[in-house]
Amino acid sequence: MLTWVAVLAAVGALALALRWALRRTDGLGRPIAFPRYAVAGLALLSVVAAVPVIRHSRLETRLSQVASRLVGHDVRVHCQTAGEEFVDAGAELGYVRFDAGGRPEPRTVIKHAQCGLLRNYIGRHGRSPDRDEIIAVHVLTHEAMHMRGLTNEAEAECAAMQRDASTAALLGASAGDASALARRYFAVYYADVPDDYRSGACTAGGQLDEKLANPPW
Ligand SMILES: [Zn+2]
Repeated sequence: MLTWVAVLAAVGALALALRWALRRTDGLGRPIAFPRYAVAGLALLSVVAAVPVIRHSRLETRLSQVASRLVGHDVRVHCQTAGEEFVDAGAELGYVRFDAGGRPEPRTVIKHAQCGLLRNYIGRHGRSPDRDEIIAVHVLTHEAMHMRGLTNEAEAECAAMQRDASTAALLGASAGDASALARRYFAVYYADVPDDYRSGACTAGGQLDEKLANPPW
């Protein structure tokens, strides 16, 4: 929507300027003044509409790079727009679709609010994240685990918790802040997830412990 506003306003400004350049006099040969207010207004509208579009696109590119590192091949993160959020009734914070053969699409949708939280988190280089920001970082990791092929929620959740520190570091946090985020999610917020996201095997030395560097336990 905003993309269209930006494009149409830019085209309108160009069209007005071009029309003036092609016909600088009226039917009686009098000079026509350049339509500067209309052209300036449309040009300004174009820029104002383009700024959030460019910001959105840059955030998606950054999140896609991080997710691709976590997954091991190129994947795409789409940040839900405000317009998409308006018509969205789902309660989940992000999702990945699977085809009939159980293969994940190389694409995830992260909800509008969580993308905004990730933007704030990146902007502060991962310093002192609040609860919602920690969860947003974890949602990105969790969806990346689905794109790796994990369909089971408890397994995806456990694999994600073991990589939250990597996600945080890739988003710009220091090593200490990244580890603290992963430990906090595991120690505090994991207790709040639905039962089918939890597993008794997701613990130090448990069956789901991948023995990665920098574990959350
Ligand atoms: Zn999931």
